[in-house]
Amino acid sequence: MKTLAKESIGEKLTSLAKRRGFVFPSSEIYGGAGATWDFGPVGVELKNNVKQSWWRTMVQLRDDVVGIDGAILMHPRVWEASGHVENFTDPLVECGNCRHRFRLDELPDGDALATDWRASRLDLSTVACPNCGQRRLADPRRFNLMFKTFVGPVEDSASVAWLRPETAQAIFVNFENVQQVTRRKLPFGIAQIGKAFRNEITPGNFIFRSREFEQMEMQYFATAADAPRLYDEWKRIRQTWHVENGIPPEKLRFRDHAPDERAHYAAAATDIEFEFPFGWKEFEGIHYRTDYDLRRHSEFSGKDLRYFDEASGERFIPHVVETSVGADRATYAILCAAYDEEPDKEGVRVVLRFKPHLAPYKVAVLPLSKNEKLVPLARDVWAAVRPAFMSTYDETQAIGRRYRRQDEIGTPLCVTVDFQSIEDRQVTIRERDSMAQIRVPIAELVDNLREKLGA
Ligand code: ATP
Repeated sequence: MKTLAKESIGEKLTSLAKRRGFVFPSSEIYGGAGATWDFGPVGVELKNNVKQSWWRTMVQLRDDVVGIDGAILMHPRVWEASGHVENFTDPLVECGNCRHRFRLDELPDGDALATDWRASRLDLSTVACPNCGQRRLADPRRFNLMFKTFVGPVEDSASVAWLRPETAQAIFVNFENVQQVTRRKLPFGIAQIGKAFRNEITPGNFIFRSREFEQMEMQYFATAADAPRLYDEWKRIRQTWHVENGIPPEKLRFRDHAPDERAHYAAAATDIEFEFPFGWKEFEGIHYRTDYDLRRHSEFSGKDLRYFDEASGERFIPHVVETSVGADRATYAILCAAYDEEPDKEGVRVVLRFKPHLAPYKVAVLPLSKNEKLVPLARDVWAAVRPAFMSTYDETQAIGRRYRRQDEIGTPLCVTVDFQSIEDRQVTIRERDSMAQIRVPIAELVDNLREKLGA
């Protein structure tokens, strides 16, 4: 990424993503479906690897966190208790002249306008509409971002349901179930990966902001005394995860929320921001949510969600530290960080320098040509590699073009089968980053690949 113009990376990535099968606009043959995206053959592998990396760090390698997979449709009272029905809104500003709609904070100087709005001193009379230039922006109205639907055959108020706008609530309503079956003592966490839906006013920037996306969330339950320390600890853990996934530390920063910006129940909140091609933006939120969520669910459900502390003999509602990262946004950040170009004989070599554990394919097996003598051996080699690594096979076009194609989808290693291979039972391993090539016996290929991948 070193020498590239920042603005162009976003456009180049969007086109590469489509061309190579990472991401397609949803329902494209019908003209697209309003800021929803489909992940293609290599995109699904990449995103699955990102999710797997999160699950491994947050659940599998920890002795204090367990996972769940909650339903998307929940009891409507959940969203009253959580405050979403009342408060999950964005300030929507409409131009009285051209009827264009904006989110308040997206207008020029939007952050200052949002601060004024929260302090009830907003004045839009001198602000020009970014679309038509007229000064006719109406005062913001609160626009609820939740998608509404109906459960069962009758569309009345008794059958309203919401598509969840975050995964966290399934964790809170299962707190007692999980605590009882796992017999966990505080502090402990519950983690989940799943779809969330938000009727965003202005989606955009490729997969950065869409209306359907995935979240990877963890709620860590603790005593009030421990929670502030754990909040700091989780900030560090989450930062390390991003760096281990190839995000350079200088492209990451924390942005603490100002007190007037925080949700009323949050005692502390920070965004982990990444320098996207369009600027520094949040891709993870870490929040100290106090005991708000479990207390509200206790009140609304009538169920006592207090935790019994055997040591002190006390009952209390645990406090919560939450880490919440978008799987799609994290994937996009990883794509941005991996994108590189370097000059070569044919002009420019485009490489996605993914860490091997995230690469869609770890290995590509390539016969030097489609020659009928080579192909059977190449297919045998692929059959030997396939059970060990997510891998692919390609026999079309010249070998140089095929190397470039694998570079563009970030495959760390290519294995080339040539005519000499038929004689000496050896193949060439070519490394994506250095383009160095070594020859190894087919019998030792899988071990060699494993060593190079650090797998
Ligand atoms: P933003 O300010 O960008 O709207 P947010 O503060 O509303 O985000 P949270 O509610 O904290 O976001 O959600 C946690 C994470 O979920 C975000 O950091 C982001 O990675 C992801 N996320 C939220 N909204 C979207 C969206 N519309 N599209 C893709 N990912 C999203």
